[in-house]
Amino acid sequence: MYKMRDSAKSWQKNLAHGFRSSKALLQYLDIHAHASCDAEVVFATRVPKHFADLMEKGNPDDPLLLQVLATNEELETHASFIEDPLQEQSYNKTPGVIHKYHGRVLLVLTGACAINCRYCFRRHFSYESNNPGSKNWGPIIDEIAKDSSISEIILSGGDPLLASDELLRQVVDKIETETQIKTLRIHTRMPVVLPERINENIQTILSQSRLNKVVVLHSNHPNELSDAVFAACQKLKQSGCHLLNQSVLLKKINDDSETLVKLSHRLFEIGVLPYYLHLLDKVRGVQHFHVPTEKAQQIFAKIQARLPGYLVPRLAVEIPGKSSKTLIHPSLS
Ligand SMILES: *Cc1c(COP(=O)(O)O)cnc(C)c1O
Ligand code: SF4
Repeated sequence: MYKMRDSAKSWQKNLAHGFRSSKALLQYLDIHAHASCDAEVVFATRVPKHFADLMEKGNPDDPLLLQVLATNEELETHASFIEDPLQEQSYNKTPGVIHKYHGRVLLVLTGACAINCRYCFRRHFSYESNNPGSKNWGPIIDEIAKDSSISEIILSGGDPLLASDELLRQVVDKIETETQIKTLRIHTRMPVVLPERINENIQTILSQSRLNKVVVLHSNHPNELSDAVFAACQKLKQSGCHLLNQSVLLKKINDDSETLVKLSHRLFEIGVLPYYLHLLDKVRGVQHFHVPTEKAQQIFAKIQARLPGYLVPRLAVEIPGKSSKTLIHPSLS
């Protein structure tokens, strides 16, 4: 058994000191645009200071700002952008457990994130609690392990690393006892938006685990990958994790081959391999971020022509009812 260190809690202070309104964020960036916006009532503004500090002052088109700035475009409705496009609710039989992929199960440890990305499907998902730690995961993990086909548990959210060190330790300890579970995967944007979250406790929990460990980061733009993010990734690597990244293709933010090529190179520099490049899920209120499939395929062809194979992410889309993502790489000819 190992001890949790209280000194490792500074991330929670930094989280609490993040931006909670677009007005405050724009003031900080010396941008004199619109002040506040009704879209923030539906989906709150949440931006850690570390992420804001990577934005260019005075630039209303900064690619990091555009990911988090609430706008009135979110209030528009379009027939093909709907509330639950992935029909996730139907895979959600036990609250907090999503079993739609073969051999692997997702645990939704918390519905909350350190950052609220405006394009996210989370804006409509009904998480019963934003308060991690309220649930006893022991019996749930026992139940999952009754299905002998399951060999991988994916901690998801929201952002699972928003959960406390104590909760993460309990969950990982419990998973350790199920011998058929070989792999622990964590899908998180935390090392990118609040890198100090990768503290000593997380390193201890991960490095002492017998499991194969995969951390899938979520970064959309090379400007997000600061030296502090690099340091967080090194700590994860030293704790025995494989590091992958998934991005979402977003209009005006990363929908050009130049940016994506830079992103792949920077990811590699900090020890991360590109994994998925997702088309946006068609959730209500995100149509202004949408990149059409044909354009996505053209961009993909360009990055593929410029990068070694191991730096080319898989271009994928999530289709409801399918037991895996669907790759939509352009065909030859
Ligand atoms: C796609 C996805 C998965 C599982 O898919 P893999 O093909 O096994 O990577 C798990 N979690 C999230 C959040 C995903 O988007
Ligand atoms: S789930 Fe990911 S994309 Fe959605 S708000 Fe949280 S960090 Fe952003």
